[in-house]
Amino acid sequence: MHELGLMERIVALIVRDATPRGIRRVTDVSVALGAVSHVTPEAARSAFEIVSAGTICQGARLHAKPEPLEGWCPRCRATRRPDPGDLSCPRCGGAVEVPEGASGIRLLSYEGEGPEEG
Ligand SMILES: [Zn+2]
Repeated sequence: MHELGLMERIVALIVRDATPRGIRRVTDVSVALGAVSHVTPEAARSAFEIVSAGTICQGARLHAKPEPLEGWCPRCRATRRPDPGDLSCPRCGGAVEVPEGASGIRLLSYEGEGPEEG
């Protein structure tokens, strides 16, 4: 259930950004799911529903897309796409270094309704 904590951070980020801009209601949220986060779009959506309740993000549509995993293999000295399950290089079998963001959820963009409405 760690997707709850990850989505909580996303919602907090949006609230912090949108509130000073006078946004009253967020309608759409786009996030990228890190390949090592093991969060599916379905899990992300239900976590979002839970953590957005009572915030300006409540009822917003969540667009969650899994990010392809890319890392650096020091043995091949090349960029590789390892299996998220074991993170080993498909070429040489060595350990691939993946970026920190691959284990989390990243906010891409969001849309909201401004104060001029209503
Ligand atoms: Zn390699």
